[in-house]
Amino acid sequence: MKFVIGVDCEGPACVVGDPGAALSASRDFAFACAQATREADAAARALFDAGAEKVLVWDNHGLGANLEFDRLDARCDVVLGTGFPRRWPGLDETFTAVLTVGYHAMAGTAGAVMAHTYSSETYRWIKVNGQKVGELAIDAAVAGEAGVPLIFVASDAHGCDEARRFMPWVGTVATKQGMGRHVAFSKHPARVVDEIYQEVGLAVSRLQEMRTFTFDTPVEMELCYRSFLQACRGRLRRGDWRFSGLRTLRSRLDSMSHWRCMGGRDPV
Ligand SMILES: [Zn+2]
Repeated sequence: MKFVIGVDCEGPACVVGDPGAALSASRDFAFACAQATREADAAARALFDAGAEKVLVWDNHGLGANLEFDRLDARCDVVLGTGFPRRWPGLDETFTAVLTVGYHAMAGTAGAVMAHTYSSETYRWIKVNGQKVGELAIDAAVAGEAGVPLIFVASDAHGCDEARRFMPWVGTVATKQGMGRHVAFSKHPARVVDEIYQEVGLAVSRLQEMRTFTFDTPVEMELCYRSFLQACRGRLRRGDWRFSGLRTLRSRLDSMSHWRCMGGRDPV
C-alpha cells in the first residue's frame, strides 16, 4: 500500500493566525509548522502500522517548505517546494489513497478559521461546474482522476463538515471549532495527534467503503477575484481564461488535473 499525505498549515490544532496577516507572517506560524508536522507524523505512523510500504508527505502550504522534516517518521519521503505542474505531485494510479492534514474550509465559510481557497487575498470564491468548492474538493478530485480516493481529513470542524458534504465516506478529525476567522476553541494539540493516529487506522480498515471523488468533465471553472485589477492580472497570466463578469474569469478544463493554482506567491 502506498499513500500521500497532503499537509497544509492553517488547520492544525491551536492555530488561528493573526488578523490582517497571512499565516506565514502570524505569531503562531512556527507553532503551526510544528503542529502540522506532529499531525502529519501521526497519520504516517498509522499508515505504516497498518501495512503501508510507502508514505509521501507533501508539504503544500505557501511555498512548500514549512514542516520540521527531521521530526517526521523516518520511513516517510517528503515532497516539498513550489512550482510543481499540478496538485499531488508524484501521485499516480499505483497509490492506494490520499489523506489531508492541516486543511481548512473554503473561502467565505462563516465562522471557519482562516477559510480561504488558495489565496484569501486573491479569490472571493472558486466554482467548479457551478458549485462553490475549496481546496479539499479540488484536491480530492485531482486524486480521484488518478483513481485514488481521499480517505481522511484533519481540519477545523468547518473543514471536516465541508469534506463530508462532498465525500460522506471520508474519516475526519476536527482539530478545533472556529468561532470566527482568527478565533477558535481548540482541542489540546497532543490529543489531536492521538485522535489522528486512531482515525487514520480506522480509515485504512474501511478502504473497501472509500470512493474516488471526481467532477463531471470537462470541468467549467470560474474564479472570482477580490478586485477587477486582480482579475485583469489573472487574465494576463492565465492565457485562455475569459472574463465572465467584472471580477470573474471562466475556463473549460479537460479535467481537474489541468487546474493550475499558479504557484509562486499566489496560493496561501
Ligand atoms: Zn495554507
